[in-house]
Amino acid sequence: LLQMVRPLEVLGSAMRDLSRSLRLSQPLLEILREEIEGAAILTATVSPGQPSGRPSRQPSTIRFEGVTFGYDPERPVIRGLDLHVEAGRTIAVVGPSGSGKSSLIRLLLRLYSPQAGRILLDGNPIDMLALGALRRQMALVPQDTPLLHASIGSNIALGRPGAGMDSIVSAAKAARLHEAIESWPDGYGTMVGERGLKLSGGERQRLAIARALLRRPTVLLLDEPTSMLDSKTEAEVLVELRQAAAGCTTLVVAHRLSTVMRADEIIVLVDGRIHERGLHADLLARDGRYARMWRQQIDGAS
Ligand code: ADP
Ligand code: MG
Repeated sequence: LLQMVRPLEVLGSAMRDLSRSLRLSQPLLEILREEIEGAAILTATVSPGQPSGRPSRQPSTIRFEGVTFGYDPERPVIRGLDLHVEAGRTIAVVGPSGSGKSSLIRLLLRLYSPQAGRILLDGNPIDMLALGALRRQMALVPQDTPLLHASIGSNIALGRPGAGMDSIVSAAKAARLHEAIESWPDGYGTMVGERGLKLSGGERQRLAIARALLRRPTVLLLDEPTSMLDSKTEAEVLVELRQAAAGCTTLVVAHRLSTVMRADEIIVLVDGRIHERGLHADLLARDGRYARMWRQQIDGAS
């Protein structure tokens, strides 16, 4: 396993250098934004020497206070947003494409900073925290999963370098990726990435989920985590994600409303503003935008 960890350290620092140099170049950063999100979270890893268990770990509280943000400050994509997520709760964000859902996650990861208002983690403004310390607490399942040209085992282990083979395998099992890996020629040693085995969209997504499960975060950020999965696999993975999320504060962006039904609160984001909020049943009873989205999906499915 140590042999597996060493190249990972090298890769980790290569990615750190990559993201650092990219931070200097805004246009390039924007092109590679999705990769950076993955790299940013993956490079803020627990060091291999650190014991894997963090027994006193508690889920965090998240608070957005009057947050306004625009990539171009003249054109805000998040407008005066107030949001409080209690420790251990799951909040779901739904809304049309372009309404600012992924931007909320980017702000939490401090890939960008708001022009007005502030974001607090456990009561502390996140811009007062060391970036590494902030991101170490978080796990992200991004819309697009970055892959390293390395073995599938190493790719999973990126979630927590130094993880033992047994925890890598159980994360893969929970993410419903284990069986596929076992069927590949070199099992967990199979090379993936650019010159390796091509993974399907669903396999990449399950890889991202395995990484996140391995990470044991206090904040779990899921950006359309099951969009590439068929509904049967989605249901299976959701059970595991829910279990993993039990010890975390979770923010899930979802396209499919089946993913959000059980959230403690659902936020309907439209044009960067909270348009509706509440529990699934309340929002259906309200017969507004959420109810309309729900009916459309039910019709679409039948
Ligand atoms: P969602 O995830 O809800 O689809 P996003 O948060 O990704 O929406 O995007 C919100 C708005 O910000 C969209 O209009 C999108 O085009 C714009 N946007 C997203 N990323 C960038 C960026 N890096 N630079 C400029 N505009 C962006
Ligand atoms: Mg998005």
